[in-house]
Order: sequence, then structure tokens, then C-alpha cells
Amino acid sequence: MSFRAIRAIKTDAGVTTELVTLTDSDLDIGDVTVRVDYSTINYKDGLAITNASPVIQHYPLIPGIDLAGTVEASDNADFAIGDKVVLNGWGLSQTHDGGFAQKARVPAEWLIKLPAGIDTRHAAAIGTAGYTAMLSVLALEHGGVTPDSGDVLVTGANGGVGSVAIALLAKLGYRVIASTGRANEADYLTALGAAEIIERDTLSQQGAPIASERWAGAIDSVGSHTLANVLAQTRYGGVVASCGLAQGVDLPGTILPFILRGVTLAGIDSVNAPKAKRIEAWTRLARDLDLSKLETMVTTVNLEEAPDVARSIFAGQIRGRTIVDVNR
Ligand code: NDP
Repeated sequence: MSFRAIRAIKTDAGVTTELVTLTDSDLDIGDVTVRVDYSTINYKDGLAITNASPVIQHYPLIPGIDLAGTVEASDNADFAIGDKVVLNGWGLSQTHDGGFAQKARVPAEWLIKLPAGIDTRHAAAIGTAGYTAMLSVLALEHGGVTPDSGDVLVTGANGGVGSVAIALLAKLGYRVIASTGRANEADYLTALGAAEIIERDTLSQQGAPIASERWAGAIDSVGSHTLANVLAQTRYGGVVASCGLAQGVDLPGTILPFILRGVTLAGIDSVNAPKAKRIEAWTRLARDLDLSKLETMVTTVNLEEAPDVARSIFAGQIRGRTIVDVNR
């Protein structure tokens, strides 16, 4: 059976993409074959498609770090034909063909069965960005941050991680402050649950090593000076979940927030997170994410459009989440 896919190829002119028709004999290695309904576009897909950082480790490769679909064939006892599944990260779009295709063959241990209440479209709308937002919320909870602790800051608010983080925290009862460079999206952020919006410029320049205590917790998808300032402004015993690098990978701060205020910097990795943690995150997403809010974040594109949209997410031009309907 043939299927369509986007493939990244490397030529003398650089990395580019092509729409191809493949057959089952082209499928990558693995014990489960998935009929893909949706892939999604995350910041890392922008990095992969533009080759701005070496995400794709060999060419040609099908990009797409997420896929959601239905099991078509399985040599693994844990998965049966017809199971609805999601896959976020692992080797997808790095060493293994990813989700920008109508079909994928993958190792069973990378797959998660969808929890009740989440269909494949919801799973794609959440995607790596939303699952990372949940991992970040779990890190705040693990560090003892509760809705009574005080305000929680979300940086990169209009992005995929930021949007889902705001919706989750608001539903859980936290007072959420959204930091954004796009003040014109204030209505969108307020509808997701932000109680207050601050200009990202107030955080993105070099600041004092320690500053007035403002945040009981924070979810930061931006890094660099923003993360250093967030740490400097975090209240005694607070927790900052660091999950992203939209401003930069550097951390130009000091240890003062740690040794004077007992602040915890919690690292968040979605790509190689163990399966038990993923199941916990997806179970909580099914319980704690308002699906009507999720719907307001979503834009849908088709396979042909996906590479260009991935390029524009890298340029900070996308709001919320983009899903790729690979069959449209
Ligand atoms: P998006 O592009 O959707 O969101 C990033 C947001 O950051 C933008 O919408 C923008 O929000 C803000 N932003 C962009 N450029 C800058 C800048 N120069 N300075 C400050 N803020 C900026 O990406 P995702 O939400 O998919 O991912 C966010 C980050 O998290 C990325 O760096 C990504 O690599 C990382 N990530 C990490 C994961 C992990 O496993 N640790 C998993 C998933 C994502 P606004 O316009 O509101 O200011």
C-alpha cells in the first residue's frame, strides 16, 4: 500500500523537503505500524526543517516529532489493531522517520495508548508542546507549589507550551501571569485563563542577580536573560520549570536565588522522558485540560503546508498549536 509523506533531504544547496509517495517497504524499523491521523508542528520541528540545529541525524528522513493515529499492524502483545495511540519525541525526526506521513512504523515502547476522553485530534492538538506543559506543571506540584502559594508565571505565553500551560494552571486554580511579546493577543491569553499579562521586554534584558519576590512558580519556555530574571524574582521556596530556549540556551544569572531563597530550578525533558512519566502526564492532560480551550489554540494545515509552517514557528510567528492533518 502506498502512502504520502514529507521527506527532508540534504543537497549541495542545503536541507530541503519534498512530498513523496512511499510504500510499506519504505517504512522504518519497529514492531507496530500506525495509520497516522495527525502530526503537529512544534518549535523543534522548526529547528529540524530549517536545519538551524542538527535535529535530523541522517538524510533522507521524514520529519515530525509527534504522531497520533490508529494501530494498523502489531507484533507486540501490548498493542492491538485499532488501538488509538500517540507518540511524542524519542527518536522521531532525529534518527527515525517521524509523523509527517500517512503511515509510520515505530518501536512499541515509544507508543502511549490514548486515555479515555482524548481522541487522536486532541492528542495532536496537545502534542509535544502540551505534554511538555503538563510535565512542567507536574514539576511545580512535585516541588510543593499549590494554588495557595501565589502567582505562577508562564513565559512564551502565545506559544504551544505557553498556551497549554496557561489553560492547565488556570483550570487547576492557579493565578496565572502570562509574559508575551504579543500584547495584541491579550484577549486570547485571558480567555485561556491568564489573570494578568506582562510585556516580555520586562524580563528579556540583563537584570539584577536577586530581585523582589513575585512568583511562587514559573514555567519558562524562553531561557537566557528571561530565565535568569524569573529565577531572581521567584519567591522563597519557589519552583521554576525550565523547558525551552526561544530566547537562547544561555543562563546568564547567579546562584543567589538558590542559596538565598531555596529556589528550585526543575529541568524538563520531553524527548527521553520515561514511559511511566509520560503515562502520568497524558492521564493528567485527560483530566485537567479544558478541551474547549484547547480548541481555541488550534490551527490545522495539510501535509504540503507543514514545512512552511514549521519554518514560521521558528520565526516566532505562530500562536498556540498547529496540527497537521496528513490525510487532508
Ligand atoms: P512556540 O514557538 O510555539 O513558542 C515559543 C514562544 O516563545 C513564542 O510564541 C513567543 O511567545 C516566545 N518567544 C519567541 N521568541 C522569543 C524571544 N526571542 N524572546 C522571548 N520570547 C520569545 O514554541 P513551543 O511552545 O513549541 O516551544 C517553546 C520552547 O520550548 C522552544 O524553545 C522549544 O524548543 C522548547 N521545548 C522543549 C521541550 C522539552 O522537552 N524540554 C519540549 C517542547 C518544547 P510570545 O509571542 O507570547 O512572547
